[in-house]
Amino acid sequence: MIIPNPNPTMSSLVSRSVAVIGAGAAGLSAALELRREGHDVVVYERETQIGGTWSYTSQTENDPIGLDPTRKVVHSSLYASLRTNLPREVMGFRVYPFVANRGHGRDPRRFPGHREVFEYLRDFAAEFELSELVRFGSEVWHVGLMDDKKWVVKSRNSSNGCDDGDQVYDAVMVCNGHYTEPRPAEISGIDEWPGKQIHSHNYRVPDPFRDQIVVVIGSSASADDISRDIARVAKEVHIASRSVQSEHLGKLAGHENIWLHSMINRAYKDGIVAFQDGNEVGADVILHCTGYKYHFPFLETNGIVTVEDNRVGPLYKHIFPPTLAPWLSFVGLPWKVVPFPMFEFQNKWIAGVLSGRIRLPSIEEMMTDSEAFYSSLEASGVPKRYTHKMGESQFEYDDWLARESDSPPTEEWRKQMYFVTGRRKRSTPETYRDHWEDEDLISLAHQDFKQHIR
Ligand code: FAD
Repeated sequence: MIIPNPNPTMSSLVSRSVAVIGAGAAGLSAALELRREGHDVVVYERETQIGGTWSYTSQTENDPIGLDPTRKVVHSSLYASLRTNLPREVMGFRVYPFVANRGHGRDPRRFPGHREVFEYLRDFAAEFELSELVRFGSEVWHVGLMDDKKWVVKSRNSSNGCDDGDQVYDAVMVCNGHYTEPRPAEISGIDEWPGKQIHSHNYRVPDPFRDQIVVVIGSSASADDISRDIARVAKEVHIASRSVQSEHLGKLAGHENIWLHSMINRAYKDGIVAFQDGNEVGADVILHCTGYKYHFPFLETNGIVTVEDNRVGPLYKHIFPPTLAPWLSFVGLPWKVVPFPMFEFQNKWIAGVLSGRIRLPSIEEMMTDSEAFYSSLEASGVPKRYTHKMGESQFEYDDWLARESDSPPTEEWRKQMYFVTGRRKRSTPETYRDHWEDEDLISLAHQDFKQHIR
């Protein structure tokens, strides 16, 4: 079902040709909002199906730590046991609530497994007839600015590498995801350390770690999940974390074979890994749950957009490079957010700016705004690599985009549910996905969903 654009001034809007790179959640939402605004859309997707990250594969890369630039890239970083870390009510698109589907083989849990999210995205694409806009198996290898300010997009067939030809567009939206290019920790002495290293990008199942002593680096949701997954079969799991408080160092409550440490100090050639808290362990494997790098190997902007210490910039509102706005945009860069609704806010704004319905400030004003933002981060001691980290500030950001696009702001229940879940995750990490007390918020969410569910 295609919902007609409610905007009565539609006829005065300019329709642009737009290339969207990637048919994950961000690219699908971009396609929907662009089409609603009257633009011509082509979505390039190098895989043969939609879903991006949520298209699980048991395949891994030949370089387990992901440093070899010639390795064959596997896009998804999901592990087999992954369940969402957000409740489905919070996580889903606003326009298409993520309600439990009781159909055969579906996972009705509130924090479902990854397959359910993939099925939900397929339902979303089917509902809005988005797959017909996608050029599957087509990998973009070059996006470049032409003399007349249009963009050339060069692509090739993902399976045989044959040239798919060049196409010219008014605008390009980059929706290629940012959980594919590993950013391993730097560890002194690691070159001589004899054990194995792997990045969580290449972690799928615990079996290869049976009876091993494993050091997991990180404090993210993935580090939490993976260390517990591995502890079921490993001899010992030692978590090295920058953020652990000293009173929590030592054996993890409720587990016989998991220990919490401060960061690694050094690795030695006899296999010892030494932590800053003074403990040492002879480890077989170091597993880096240390995050990812933004990576746009296809993008040529003559140095206008750069990635420095994981800051993509300069960007106005994490989206537009001021001097190329609105003809180049990035969707989904912020992290520690609720991604799907944020994609919707970003995409509505971009689609409206492209059609002329929404006005951007001048280049100088956008540049001043982004410089002021970077200065404020520096003044607060926030490292550059956290430029796109949001957390609590995400809702202010989303609501700013909503105001600009004349859309309703984030629902109050969604904000509260996000914060309540965060608190539960920290206080009861083992059980937060199966036990909760926010039934009142769930019913508010379902009241709200009635306007979208037919
Ligand atoms: P992706 O899903 O990565 O999609 C990008 C697409 O671009 C892919 O299909 C890729 O094939 C395509 N592509 C890339 N390069 C090219 C190219 N050159 N040419 C053509 N196509 C290209 N979010 C939640 O809301 N809840 C969770 O519980 C949650 N858990 C997560 C757990 C893990 C381990 C990870 C890694 C992420 C998790 N996320 C979670 C965040 C998740 O990344 C987002 O939900 C969302 O899937 C990101 O969508 P995206 O479209 O930005 O990127």
